Amino acid sequence: MAHINQNFLKLPGGYLFPEIGRRVRAFEAQDPPRPLIRLGIGDVTQPLAPAVVEAMVEAAREMGHKETFRGYCEETGCAYDFLRFAIRDSYKAAGVDIADDEIFVSDGAKSDCGNIGDIFSGNNLVAVCDPVYPVYVDTNAMAGRAGEFDGEKWTGLVYLPCTAENGFFPALPAGKAPDLIYICSPNNPTGAAATYDQLKTWVDYANANSSVILYDSAYEAYITQPGIPHSIFEVEGARTCAIEFRSFSKTAGFTGTRCAYTVIPKELEREGVSLHALWNRRQGTKFNGVPYVVQRGAAAVFTPEGQAQVKATIDYYMENAAIIKVGLTAAGLQVYGGINAPYIWCAVPQGMDSWGFFDKLLHQACVVTTPGAGFGPSGEGYIRLTAFGSREDTTRAVERIKAIL
Ligand SMILES: *Cc1c(COP(=O)(O)O)cnc(C)c1O
Repeated sequence: MAHINQNFLKLPGGYLFPEIGRRVRAFEAQDPPRPLIRLGIGDVTQPLAPAVVEAMVEAAREMGHKETFRGYCEETGCAYDFLRFAIRDSYKAAGVDIADDEIFVSDGAKSDCGNIGDIFSGNNLVAVCDPVYPVYVDTNAMAGRAGEFDGEKWTGLVYLPCTAENGFFPALPAGKAPDLIYICSPNNPTGAAATYDQLKTWVDYANANSSVILYDSAYEAYITQPGIPHSIFEVEGARTCAIEFRSFSKTAGFTGTRCAYTVIPKELEREGVSLHALWNRRQGTKFNGVPYVVQRGAAAVFTPEGQAQVKATIDYYMENAAIIKVGLTAAGLQVYGGINAPYIWCAVPQGMDSWGFFDKLLHQACVVTTPGAGFGPSGEGYIRLTAFGSREDTTRAVERIKAIL
């Protein structure tokens, strides 16, 4: 008899987005049809940059000729030199020295953030920020590292509250030091971006306790303020305690195209073993790489034309973020984020909870948001809006919200 992984049965069953879907469908079924504006889900809407499309078309043609056809990518880090070198050079231009063979290219930061657990034992103590990108929590729950779900929290996880009081960046925990620490900056869902000093506190802590920081910088390209680190490796000491996840998804509209990368410094060791070597073994065994065509598209992001084109799209989204931020502030709401991230984290009006405000915005303004409570206990009292809509939808949604407050 085959035995299933019982940990899956502990998962509370994808509460957040299915529940939003249910409420949206119920609303659409009941009321006379009024067009909904969706500012809830974190997916991009603008097309791929022309430089990326051209590179992929040309690569597809190469695949159609015997002389230029490619099979398995047998190269270092499952990445062709042209992409690995381009990524290395982009770090270098930002003042960070990364060797090209410290870069592992993959099909997504979601997969890497989840799969990285393979190289760590089941009995590591895991810390997550609260609110949190659910992938970190659920993948550790599947691996048996989260204990039981008690209806609000996982008994085995360390929750690091991120609140208005601490500027949405976690303080060091008081008790036993966690072994694995997930930090996402710029943050989904709060939109907060960590400063150098904030990151340095955690880097020093991780080095002192032999912990590992799993650093998700999927939104680094959205940083607009100077002085905010784009990479954990800008921080002194990070090379001996951190793994960084990056993605082309939000940077260059690759959510449906799929390409990301993870950086593991060669000097990062635990129990005398190189984590770089373990991840290399893991990927070599369970992964056969990202399509050549997609890697060519990703490399085009780093060309001058590609850079200008993806920057224009990010600027467009960040203008949406400013429209939301200014509009909701004018409506009397307390609004956070939206400066270094495409997310606006909005405190709900007095006397309401996050699902209550979600319902009010859905029924009265016909705007779909995401209730903060779905991201963890400290998300209660907030809703998340995203800047990924069209300009027209964003402007109209803000007008509608202002009109009902
Ligand atoms: C969107 C997102 C990613 C990107 O995931 P991909 O699998 O590369 O599309 C990673 N981390 C966070 C927090 C995200 O919101």
